[in-house]
Amino acid sequence: MKKTPSTLSTLENAGLSAEDQLLFSNARPRPYEPYPIKAIEDFANWARANSLWILAFGTGCCSIELRPLMTARFDASRFGVAGRPTPRQSSVFIIGGYVSVKTLKRIVRSYEQMQGPKFIIALGSCPANGGMYFDSYNTINQFDLYLPVDLYVTGCMPRPEALLGAILELQDDIKAGKCDGANRYIEHFDEYKANQKKVIKDWNMPDYNW
Ligand code: SF4
Repeated sequence: MKKTPSTLSTLENAGLSAEDQLLFSNARPRPYEPYPIKAIEDFANWARANSLWILAFGTGCCSIELRPLMTARFDASRFGVAGRPTPRQSSVFIIGGYVSVKTLKRIVRSYEQMQGPKFIIALGSCPANGGMYFDSYNTINQFDLYLPVDLYVTGCMPRPEALLGAILELQDDIKAGKCDGANRYIEHFDEYKANQKKVIKDWNMPDYNW
């Protein structure tokens, strides 16, 4: 495996008590390695693109648009989209609007527990630039400083058609092998983690939530 700074040392897990440090792994996450045969990787990407499982976690008001997506009118299931109640079974995290610092901690925990390859769609103006909460003391105004975003959908709030369009675009990007957000997270892990710790003051979890 290619050596990157993120694979050279173990994690400190300094936020955990000595007792809890024994319970959690201090291994660094590894980047996804494509299959050596291109045809197999293309096939895997085709399968991934056609079975997008969305983590049912609404962060802000934009999340209300996730519900109609699964109704008969928009029927996202015809594209292989399904909602899942746990990060362990999900491959897509839709950041549904503004993200408070308190929510960011839960988002980081949930995202890291998702199995790779995994993808993030950021919905609404708030994750892109803070939106109407741009000067709030407790809201993130540039989400991709903390976790990697594969696709932005702008608007306040974007309609379900826009979200459905984003899902189709994400499918095209996955099939073309262009969605590398999860690997970007691993390759720049220390920078992302430093940004997360700068705003999350009560850091009492492992450095990577396996
Ligand atoms: S973009 Fe608008 S609708 Fe979406 S979370 Fe922000 S304020 Fe709410």
